[in-house]
Amino acid sequence: MKDVYLLGATGSIGMQVLDIIRANPNQFRLVSATTNKRVDLLRKIIREFQPQFVSVGSKEDRDALKKEFDNLLVGYGKKGLVQSATFGEKGKGIVLNAIVGSAGLEVTIASIKHRRDVALANKESLVIGGELITPLLKEYGVRLLPVDSEHSAIFQCLVGEEPKTVKKIIITASGGSFRDKSRGDLRKVTIKDALNHPNWHMGAKITIDSATMMNKGLEVIEAHHLFDIPYDQISTVLHRESIVHSLVEFHDGSMLAHLGMPDMRVPISYALNYPNRAFYNAKRLDLETLGTLHFEKLSFERYPMLKYAYEAGKKGGYAPTVLNAANEAAVHLFLNGSISFLQIEQIVLQCSKQFHIKKPLSLAGILEVDDMVKQYVFSAYMTRK
Ligand code: NAD
Ligand code: MG
Repeated sequence: MKDVYLLGATGSIGMQVLDIIRANPNQFRLVSATTNKRVDLLRKIIREFQPQFVSVGSKEDRDALKKEFDNLLVGYGKKGLVQSATFGEKGKGIVLNAIVGSAGLEVTIASIKHRRDVALANKESLVIGGELITPLLKEYGVRLLPVDSEHSAIFQCLVGEEPKTVKKIIITASGGSFRDKSRGDLRKVTIKDALNHPNWHMGAKITIDSATMMNKGLEVIEAHHLFDIPYDQISTVLHRESIVHSLVEFHDGSMLAHLGMPDMRVPISYALNYPNRAFYNAKRLDLETLGTLHFEKLSFERYPMLKYAYEAGKKGGYAPTVLNAANEAAVHLFLNGSISFLQIEQIVLQCSKQFHIKKPLSLAGILEVDDMVKQYVFSAYMTRK
C-alpha cells in the first residue's frame, strides 16, 4: 500500500489522480488532500477517501471543515500546504504536486526535504526553482517523477539508456486552441475561444498557456532540469494529434517515441507506480484506424513565447522566475477580461526586458521576485476585478 499526499486534489490533474486511487484501492491510500477554494469538492473527497489531513486556502474554510469532520486534521494557507506534504513518517509514500503556478514551489522543496518522492505535475516549480531543486534531490536521495505527459514520455524512453548516448530530446506540442490561426487572427480572439483546447481538457491556466505556446516554453525549461540536458539539445515539434507524447534521438540514429491516446491518467499511473508499470484501463490506440500522424515546424515568429522561454532558460538564475511570474499574472488578467490575448506575450516580453535580477539564487529570492513581477503587472494592467 502506497500513501499518497495529493496537493491540488480538486483540479484537473488532482481529480484524475483520484481516479487512479479509486481504481486501485489495495495499492494506494489517500493520506492528505488540498484545495485552494473548491471546498465543496474537497468535502466530497473527504467523504469518499477519508484522508487524515486536508488543507484549504483560508482560515474560515478551515474552521468550517474542522466543525464538520471529527478527527480530521485541517490546515490552511501556505503552512497547511507544507503540512499536507510532510505529514507522517519521513521518506514514506509519495507527494503528487498538482497545484497550478509558482504557489507549488515551496511545497515541492519541503517534500524533498522530508525525503519523500515527488510526482510533479506542477511544472512551474521546476521552471523557477530547478536550479535549487536538482541539488536537493541528490542531497536527500529523492526521486522527482514527471507527470507532464511529454516528460513522462521522455522519462520512459530513457529507461536503461546511458545519458551520454542522447543526441536530443524532442517535445511534441498539440498547438493549442489557435494552431490554425495566423498572428493577424489572434487580435480578435476571445477567452472562450482560447479555452477551447482541441485535444485535452485541462485547468484554465495551462489551456491558455497552450494557446500562447508558453506551456511548451515552460516544458523546455522543465525538461532541461529534469533530464540535465542543455537547451541546444532540446527541440519542439508541432504534432496535432497528441498521440506521440515526445521522443528521444540517440547518437546511433535511433529515435524512441512514446505513443498513446491523450489521457493524463497514463503518466499519472506511471509516476505513482514507478518503477513498476501497473494495469490501467486506458483507451487503446488503434494504429490501423489512426492511419497518419503529422509533424510540423513550430516557428518562433508564430510562437514568440517559445523563444522567450528558451532565452530565459539559457540565462538561468531569476530569468525563468520573471518569465513565469509575468505569464501567470498576464494569464490571470486575460481570464478576467483586463487584457487581450496578444497582450499576454507583450507583457512577458516587457517584463523579461525590464527585470534583470543579479543577486544569488535562493528560495526567498525567487518568492520575492515572483511577487514583485506579479504586483507590477497587476498594477500596470488590471482594469477589472
Ligand atoms: P487546475 O486549475 O485544474 O487545478 C489547480 C489546483 O491547484 C486546484 O486544486 C487548486 O485548488 C489548487 N491551487 C490553485 N492555486 C493555489 C494556491 N495559490 N495555493 C494552493 N493551491 C492552489 O490546474 P491543472 O490543470 O490540474 O494543472 C495543475 C498543474 O499540472 C499545473 O502546473 C499544470 O501546468 C500541470 N499540468 C496539467 C495538465 C492537465 O492536463 N491539466 C497536464 C500537464 C501538466
Ligand atoms: Mg505537457
